[in-house]
Amino acid sequence: MPNNEKLKIGVDIGGTNLKFGIVNREGKILAKCSYKFDKTISSTEVVKGLGIEINKFLVTNKIDKKDISGIGIGCPGSIDSTKGICDYSNNLKFNNAPLVDLIEKTTGLKAKAANDANVACLGEARFGSGKNYQNIVFLTLGTGVGGGLVLNGKIYEGKDGKGAELGHSIIELNGRKCTCGRRGCLETYASATALIKDTKEAMKKHPESHLWNYVENDIDKVGAKTAFSVASEGDKTAIEVVNNFIYYLGEGILNFINIFKPDIVLLGGGVSYQGDSLINPLNEYIKKAHYGFGDSPKVSVAVASLGNDAGIIGASCLID
Ligand SMILES: [Zn+2]
Repeated sequence: MPNNEKLKIGVDIGGTNLKFGIVNREGKILAKCSYKFDKTISSTEVVKGLGIEINKFLVTNKIDKKDISGIGIGCPGSIDSTKGICDYSNNLKFNNAPLVDLIEKTTGLKAKAANDANVACLGEARFGSGKNYQNIVFLTLGTGVGGGLVLNGKIYEGKDGKGAELGHSIIELNGRKCTCGRRGCLETYASATALIKDTKEAMKKHPESHLWNYVENDIDKVGAKTAFSVASEGDKTAIEVVNNFIYYLGEGILNFINIFKPDIVLLGGGVSYQGDSLINPLNEYIKKAHYGFGDSPKVSVAVASLGNDAGIIGASCLID
């Protein structure tokens, strides 16, 4: 460790995994830890357990707490970043969880918390694909669809840090029921969860599809990349699943482009690893349809570059 350089800890609370890492001032992860947490125990026990894991990790890696300036936490759901509380999470049982208070008490280190997608967006803006841009729309396509915004060079979180829930904008009136309680949210059409569900439904309707061969006739083996892989081989059913996914995601992105006119739209999360097979058709779709497309500045969609580490690096950016 360079002299006098304070390190930070970034925590990424996911749907099933907890990850944290020691991050330096340049946004580089020096050491990290990942483990599955028990979803049946209370959020208090999960977060206290996290604090204990951090303490152990620092001892194992011979890092003195004096060299850590704080712990940033990214958590899914509605996070009151001023109070450090997870008020509500539709994909985790973390309602009213005092994240910051519990972590500070367990570790003795200063902590801050914010929504996981806002935090990943912050990481991309500082150290990833967004670093040369002032206006960024960021979407994570994973269990749900998370949203983050950088406007005029600053992260925009809205009142109490609870804004930018782009995944819960309605894309289909009276559409699919969302875990948030509304119907037709982008998340219900453009998340990895939705893609997997759509792939399985298409397979049931089309027993002749190569999708079945790809998963060796075991529908439980369907993942977020199954339809994309089989579509690239020319399978009609898989192509339909992918086109439908691009349609909804494309329409959602067009709404955000028309509202914010960002410099760039960045996609993170599991589905973004499809790379060009996702990005190219999306860019085609957007080029044809955005508002004032004749003479408007072009906006493009790109893959977020920090990948799996965006959560840890972004969370560490919460600490000065
Ligand atoms: Zn919703």
